[in-house]
Amino acid sequence: MGTLALPTPSRRQWHPEMRAAQRIMANMATSATKSGKGGGGGTKSAGAATDPFLPRQRKVREAMLGHELTHLLVSSPLDVGYLTGFTGGDSYLLIGPRQPGAPVTAALISDFRYQEELQPFADKLEIIIRKRSMGEAVADLLSGPGVERVGIQADIMTVAERDALAKKIGTKKVVSTVGLINKLRSVKDAHEIDLIRRAVKIQEGALLEVLPTIEAGQTEQAIAARLESEMKARGSAAPSFDTIVGAKGNSALPHYRAGEMKVANNNVLLIDWGATYKGYHSDMTRTFALGKWPKKMAEIYEIVLEAHKLAAAALCAGKSSAEIDKVARDHIAAAGYGEHFGHSLGHGIGLQIHEEPRLSHMLAGVKLQAGQVVTIEPGIYLPGVGGVRLENDYVVTETGSECLATLPMTLEWATLG
Ligand code: ZN
Ligand code: ZN
Repeated sequence: MGTLALPTPSRRQWHPEMRAAQRIMANMATSATKSGKGGGGGTKSAGAATDPFLPRQRKVREAMLGHELTHLLVSSPLDVGYLTGFTGGDSYLLIGPRQPGAPVTAALISDFRYQEELQPFADKLEIIIRKRSMGEAVADLLSGPGVERVGIQADIMTVAERDALAKKIGTKKVVSTVGLINKLRSVKDAHEIDLIRRAVKIQEGALLEVLPTIEAGQTEQAIAARLESEMKARGSAAPSFDTIVGAKGNSALPHYRAGEMKVANNNVLLIDWGATYKGYHSDMTRTFALGKWPKKMAEIYEIVLEAHKLAAAALCAGKSSAEIDKVARDHIAAAGYGEHFGHSLGHGIGLQIHEEPRLSHMLAGVKLQAGQVVTIEPGIYLPGVGGVRLENDYVVTETGSECLATLPMTLEWATLG
């Protein structure tokens, strides 16, 4: 990927987050419009019947108060979609203070290409179709009275863009914020949980279709391609990430993709895959053996399975994210494999494949909240020999957690052929 900044507007298209976001958001659109009408065929989700966007904007305003911001400029396309339902991309959202009597307190700054598409949003948002560059249009809007402290998304906006804004409206007015909306996004409403549940269903259905077709001699890539195709046929816009299929020793590489290695009998096969449904990601891992399990692999399988179960049983709102990681890590260490579990236990999932909160031994813990959706994915990796990882997605609840996955994790089930 190139690293040179190009002049606007093409610059916005190569920003890695934006490119991924555009792909994701094309699919959020349908879900957003349907949710406002209470349609979509869902029967379980009470939250789907109401417009989820205004409550989200309200929460942003509350967070802004904490930072003493009069305005917040949202330049992440994912966050713009999350807060408004508009998923066209290339548009910024400016959230202002709630003025007494003013009906509109949020403005969407876009361009001619989206004029038509933005019509349905006009009763809830001020729509500004810019005639100049985004930077100039934003600076114009923020040059008026009442603008004192403007929060920008420092982890999204480029330094050049920030500098240009500061030059126009004054350095003191531009305040860097990091993760303000991510924090809100980490807690999912019923509608979002429903979409993740659908993504899980898609990926599980696809795996069940592919499993009986796996034979010795097939390449990792061929299996990954079939799995991705089955997910797409079931409604996934794109895989959550490049599907990982690791045969034999490749299963010991936690972030392997899929290559030309062939699957072999009496050896392991690790599959880490996920679907996206209406913008929302799912993420699971299973480890299999074709035929007989090598003795060492069967041994570590049971240890990983127990570590997974212990961590899942410990998961609960109010507990520390680091504490849950420790439960699994301590079990693996006690079995003598501590040094072979190097990565974090899990991560949040949602509009992105990796979100807050992280269940990690490397970070200070955060207090888990009901509505967060996290993976639990302990693993043991023996270099050159093989690895085992078992991953499910869980909704954190006040009393524990709910597992969104339904596929078994037993060694018997994971024995193919
Ligand atoms: Zn995964
Ligand atoms: Zn994961």
